[in-house]
Amino acid sequence: MKYPKKFKDLIEGFESFPGIGPKTAERLAFYAISKQSKDASLRFADSLKDAISSICECEVCGMIADESKCEICKDDTRDKKLMIVENSKDVISFEKTNAYKGKYHVLNGLISPTNGIGPDDISIDKLISRLESEQFDEIIVATSSTIDGEITAMYINKLLASKGIKTYRIGYGLPVSTDIEYVDEITLIKSLESKKEM
Ligand SMILES: [Zn+2]
Repeated sequence: MKYPKKFKDLIEGFESFPGIGPKTAERLAFYAISKQSKDASLRFADSLKDAISSICECEVCGMIADESKCEICKDDTRDKKLMIVENSKDVISFEKTNAYKGKYHVLNGLISPTNGIGPDDISIDKLISRLESEQFDEIIVATSSTIDGEITAMYINKLLASKGIKTYRIGYGLPVSTDIEYVDEITLIKSLESKKEM
């Protein structure tokens, strides 16, 4: 006896999410169709569809947004600093620290020679054209301390240095080879305090 096709599709749907193995996917699928959670599941399905069709990238910084410009880019009271991060999740991590009040630029990826991802595959072009029109007092590169994070930071530093723009790198209270998303708030605050000129 096998599962009906539609139920199998549902399991595969859950399984395609990060961190969800076959067993958890199976459990979630059973939960989703169970009598007591049917209404909640349908609401979830609607919000999932709505989110996917309406959430976009901020046209200025690349952060996820539900309008063409995100809340942070619209906020004129922010400091004239720019922090360059890998993804929208990292923006939220730094926002939670309350230690940084500037703006962000989201690369939406990292340069990764081993995965065939080059500078053209992430939002560096946009960064350069942004720096031509927006003025910042300080630029901080806050990519992870992984190999790809370091390669990306070095690339950006070199590129900006060639245009006469100085950059800072967040400091190494940050453990080596760590993704920003796994770093606690205190460590992030320390990494900001100990930033160094590149
Ligand atoms: Zn934005």
